[in-house]
Amino acid sequence: MFPSKFEYRRVASVDEAVSILSQEEDAKILAGGHSLIPLMKLRLASPELLVDITKIENMSYIREDDGEIAIGALTRHHALETSELLAREVPVLPAVAATVGDPAVRHCGTLGGTASHGDGASDLPAALLALDATFVAKGPKGERRIAAKDFFTGFLETALAPFEVLTEIRVPKGYRSYSFQKFNRRAQDWAIVGVVAVRNGTTNIGYVNMGVTPLRATAVEQQLASGASDDDAAAAAAAGLTPPSDINGSSEYRAHLAGVLVRRALSELG
Ligand SMILES: Cc1cc2nc3c(=O)[nH]c(=O)nc-3n(C[C@H](O)[C@H](O)[C@H](O)COP(=O)(O)OP(=O)(O)OC[C@H]3O[C@@H](n4cnc5c(N)ncnc54)[C@H](O)[C@@H]3O)c2cc1C
Repeated sequence: MFPSKFEYRRVASVDEAVSILSQEEDAKILAGGHSLIPLMKLRLASPELLVDITKIENMSYIREDDGEIAIGALTRHHALETSELLAREVPVLPAVAATVGDPAVRHCGTLGGTASHGDGASDLPAALLALDATFVAKGPKGERRIAAKDFFTGFLETALAPFEVLTEIRVPKGYRSYSFQKFNRRAQDWAIVGVVAVRNGTTNIGYVNMGVTPLRATAVEQQLASGASDDDAAAAAAAGLTPPSDINGSSEYRAHLAGVLVRRALSELG
């Protein structure tokens, strides 16, 4: 399978990328290429121009900044997996990153790429949603910050404009208690359903593959906040949701699985 014909430009700065994206109507950013290239091969995406941002300097980092952890958009999944700072301050991210695909995927895929792709079946976006992350985007008019709750807007759609570059993802410190339940058939597979739970006083829960976007388990969170038992809260796992049906499981199966995984996650949180 071959993608349709496209032009390719490698940029050296975010400003250069923004300038090209603002002028070209059918251009797409290329980061790790591990979601975009498969889509292009299937002809589900046919951009006329790829803007390769991988050689932009200083866009791959994990550091403390203003009481938060700032992660450059070009940071690879492998770097998240092996970061001592994250292991100490936001341990759910290394745990989730370690389950993404296989080592080849984790050495190419970027946090900015998986966030911008906005796939409800992806693991790290659900973790970012549970952590109430903030997304920093740069466009022709400068920088803006987008809260995670406003970022994932639809099927493979985010709040990013076509001419914006996601430059940084910021996560709060303090969520040291976590549980990640990824249910798949083989270690390197995508999740049939995933549950990312973090606790820092309140409990936040993100879902993988329970809808077209990454989702919060709002009903479970509300139950817990009002003092319900873990069992009662887990019973609300699929309330108000319509999980997808596919070859790996029906919507009903996913709804049941979510309850089981939420229950496991809550007991692991302690
Ligand atoms: C075999 C295989 C197995 C996988 N298994 C899993 C899995 O188990 N779990 C999982 O979560 N993921 C999985 N993935 C997906 C993987 O995590 C991808 O790397 C990730 O989803 C996309 O990141 P990327 O850097 O490759 O982005 P790209 O493919 O380069 O880009 C993805 C999209 O984001 C846009 N984009 C990229 N960077 C930016 C930016 N900085 N600003 C604005 N837009 C941007 C691109 O234009 C494109 O639309 C798998 C992929 C493969 C090929």
